[in-house]
Amino acid sequence: MEHIRCLIIGSGPAGYTAAIYAGRANLSPVLYEGIQPGGQLTITTEVENFPGYPEGVAGPDLMEDLRKQAERFGTDIRSAIAVKADLGERPYQVTFDDGNTVEADTVIIATGATAKYLGLADEKKYAGMGVSACATCDGFFYRKKTVAVVGGGDTACEEASYLSGLAAKVYMLVRKPFLRASKIMQERVLENPKIEVLFEHNAEGLFGENGVEGVHVVKRKGEPDEQHYDLAIDGFFLAIGHKPNSDIFKPWVKTDETGYIMTEGDSPRTGIPGVFAAGDVADPHYRQAITAAASGCKAAIEAERYLLGNKL
Ligand code: NDP
Repeated sequence: MEHIRCLIIGSGPAGYTAAIYAGRANLSPVLYEGIQPGGQLTITTEVENFPGYPEGVAGPDLMEDLRKQAERFGTDIRSAIAVKADLGERPYQVTFDDGNTVEADTVIIATGATAKYLGLADEKKYAGMGVSACATCDGFFYRKKTVAVVGGGDTACEEASYLSGLAAKVYMLVRKPFLRASKIMQERVLENPKIEVLFEHNAEGLFGENGVEGVHVVKRKGEPDEQHYDLAIDGFFLAIGHKPNSDIFKPWVKTDETGYIMTEGDSPRTGIPGVFAAGDVADPHYRQAITAAASGCKAAIEAERYLLGNKL
């Protein structure tokens, strides 16, 4: 079986940053790209908040640069998806969907999280043309415009509050007659004059010529007084939760109730010696490219120290 000193699973900012650091530390990293090569940034348009790009950078370009930087320091980048992990004892074993199983002294889990979508065909049709699952990434393009945020949890309230600082008007489409968010977040949106919370509303589809111009909504779906109408909007933001891509690691590492891998304090240590988690798979709070990159860096430094300390 192939033996790897530093195995990195995932190719978002966390995975590539880990690879850059691990490569420069001579750990001969092997990185598996996973389901979405380049991660979530490959589905955004312009990234304007990643330090070092005063004019902004296209998400896919940023990821391509990170990939090249990781390759420059000798990272062996492979395209396959991890389907099984055995982290019971070292060397740890990971099996990929190409049928290969490798063993590794250190494993950096950087498999990210996937934003949940409603499953409407129009979400795909208008991807990058008015549909977004990240207000911090894309909100800036909706200055003085009208947007809708779907969801009634803390993320939706946070996104709506953030967008209210940019947009002229923010609708929240909440399927229940109440918000699920924490009290303080509820108060914040309900008291915000720019935010209008539409309870018992579901989105059914989007319309527009060259981008989103509106959303078809249904009020009190399934009730005798069910009502269908259209709402004019320029941007449609999903905030109905993220699913961390941690399923195959769950038998081994601690996860919270949503599935985010729990690490020790601010470190990427999972509690299993030599196994680290970095980026969105372990971050229910920030979920930014720069914070993911930072945790990837920490994971690689930890991996290096672990290998050194164990003479591996
Ligand atoms: P949540 O699961 O808490 O909320 C998801 C929201 O989306 C709910 O209102 C839910 O409705 C709605 N929703 C889910 N599926 C659909 C659907 N198909 N159609 C319409 N609406 C839908 O996810 P969050 O991302 O908001 O939060 C995740 C966790 O992270 C929570 O524990 C939260 O407290 C935490 N968090 C904390 C923050 C903070 O403290 N600052 C910031 C962000 C998140 P329903 O209520 O009907 O199920």
